[in-house]
Amino acid sequence: MERIRMTTPLVEMDGDEMTRVMWRMIKDELILPFVDLKTEYYDLGLLNRNDTDDQVTVDAANANRKYGVAVKCATITPNRQRMEEFPQLKQMWKSPNATIRSIMDGTVFRAPILISRIKPVVRNWEAPITIARHAYGDIYKASEMITEVPGEAKLVFSGDDGSEKTVSVQRVEGPAVWQGQHNLDSSIRSFAESCFRYALSTGQDLWFSTKDTISKVYDGRFREIFEEIFEKEYKALFESKGISFFYTLIDDAVARVIRSKGGFIWACKNYDGDVMSDMVSTAFGSIAMMTSVLVSPDGNYEYEAAHGTVTRHYYRYLKGEKTSSNPVATIFAWTGALRKRGELDGIDDLVSFADRLERACFDTMEAGTVTKDLTLLMEDTEGVTAVDTETFIKAVRQRI
Ligand code: NAP
Ligand code: MG
Repeated sequence: MERIRMTTPLVEMDGDEMTRVMWRMIKDELILPFVDLKTEYYDLGLLNRNDTDDQVTVDAANANRKYGVAVKCATITPNRQRMEEFPQLKQMWKSPNATIRSIMDGTVFRAPILISRIKPVVRNWEAPITIARHAYGDIYKASEMITEVPGEAKLVFSGDDGSEKTVSVQRVEGPAVWQGQHNLDSSIRSFAESCFRYALSTGQDLWFSTKDTISKVYDGRFREIFEEIFEKEYKALFESKGISFFYTLIDDAVARVIRSKGGFIWACKNYDGDVMSDMVSTAFGSIAMMTSVLVSPDGNYEYEAAHGTVTRHYYRYLKGEKTSSNPVATIFAWTGALRKRGELDGIDDLVSFADRLERACFDTMEAGTVTKDLTLLMEDTEGVTAVDTETFIKAVRQRI
């Protein structure tokens, strides 16, 4: 069989533990037999990040900016426990995802993969809800303090030009807690651009919510920037695609989301996105079925699974046991990247290959061949067989 040719390389970011094992299986069984794969390979496994003083992560992110499309395997973010596990680590390296996100200045979009055998907890949800979380500032970069005595707190801004702006926060008569947070016009703009682009690229409506009735200046600024960019750059494009941009208060959004059929993108401020993405993903099913894509404001894409390296399964794998780790989100990271590459380079066969590989995954699962994590989410397991990872991947290959 002739394999599908590519013109531009995909940026391939390899990773750690069980997902690294699955990465190899997916490539060998599901991609290389069909695609004459061209990638620029970066090994983001923890030991190589350590050997290169994390330069490999920076290089990979820059390659993503150069070529436009990357696919990333899950990676270990070292913590104190990992420092004991890997005594050779020179330091507690930063999260690769955080490094890549800051170089790309991107926004993360998370969407669940739905199959009919697993019913969302919210009965009326028929299509995925994608959450876009603004990942800069607010309480995640806030300064906080506790005070004991009566007094007044003020918010003071000292401009480099000598100007000064002061507002009173509050006068208190006893012990109190305080918090100062900020955001940047530039970051809000990037967030807005990424959201509008991703809505266009996937043909879905975009919702955005804040609490601008209460936070008239701060949240008001988010709303203003979104509306300004939409009017100027995206309104006509949205109309021609038949999609819409919809702004509403966060409380109204929460109520509407629960009553909706799904099938749209919900852009959230940092904290709202943190909380709502956990709620929405749990209500849809499993972390093992959640995809994630980082989209930069200038239109670069990095696809990955939302889950981590599945460490517990990896230790069993090392003991020679067969594990039933779910490769579907990682397969969809590959299909997402291949489809986007195909679209950008005008290679229809690559786009339809991505569609077929996804279809093969769906058909395999719908026919009842699934990994163990999914059986736990099914009300009715008649005709369902839980298989190990390799058997699942082989079953998908048979269907392609
Ligand atoms: P995790 O790897 O997502 O796994 C947590 C648990 O969720 C697993 O033990 C497993 O439950 C279940 N699970 C997750 N993915 C699964 C899959 N594909 N198939 C079947 N079950 C799956 O999260 P973690 O244990 O908190 O983190 C492990 C490592 O991953 C950490 O070093 C962390 O830094 C890293 N991490 C990386 C990323 C990333 O690169 N994007 C994201 C998150 C975490 P059972 O064991 O009960 O079967
Ligand atoms: Mg959270």
